[in-house]
Amino acid sequence: MIHSRFKHLLVQIRQAEIAYNRKPESVLLLAVSKTKSAKDIAAAYQAGQRHFGESYCQEALKKQQELGAFDITWHFIGPVQSNKTKVLATHFAWVHSVDSLKIAKRLSEQRPSALPPLNICLQVNISGEQSKSGITLNELPQLCELVSELPNIKLRGVMAIPMPEEDFELQRQPYKTLYQAVAKLNNPELNTYSFGMSGDLNAAIAEGATIVRIGTALFGAREYK
Ligand SMILES: *Cc1c(COP(=O)(O)O)cnc(C)c1O
Repeated sequence: MIHSRFKHLLVQIRQAEIAYNRKPESVLLLAVSKTKSAKDIAAAYQAGQRHFGESYCQEALKKQQELGAFDITWHFIGPVQSNKTKVLATHFAWVHSVDSLKIAKRLSEQRPSALPPLNICLQVNISGEQSKSGITLNELPQLCELVSELPNIKLRGVMAIPMPEEDFELQRQPYKTLYQAVAKLNNPELNTYSFGMSGDLNAAIAEGATIVRIGTALFGAREYK
């Protein structure tokens, strides 16, 4: 089941790249395995998947231990609490959900020196929803500058979780806005756009996504959130 969904997703991503004039293989599939078992991750791994995203620290660590022999690149995509930065800095290659200078500083300070810099994205709240974390578009330029100076993290780009929309054009809008805001910064290092989930990956790819974060369409529905 996971194997065939994986193959189907890759086809969908490659077709969307062609449809929206994106470079071939410019979009990376990040398999979001939160709430899913190590066995499910292993099934996706066997199908060829290498990048996995988790949202909860403790849950992720447990699975990382079970899957220690696998060559997996782990991404953290959930809300970052200050008391978890050390674990994240130690056990992940990427954190997509950085939304303050304070968190970025802690991740930089706590990144073990034996490891390469931690890749991070700034999470931007483009739909302006009260409930969602993320910085505003106005805060983006200055935060990019400050975070870029930190030694043990590498600012790669932005992440967004827009308000869910059914309509394709409405799905594209917030991604377009954020893409243009990043382009204006004129910083070639900022080339990661962590855009798109199961329900809007085509719209995200149309607007420049370089990482799509897919859970449900790969692993099936989650039993809890
Ligand atoms: C759960 C989650 C996803 C995956 O969502 P699906 O709709 O299941 O594809 C993507 N990004 C973040 C930040 C998530 O928390």
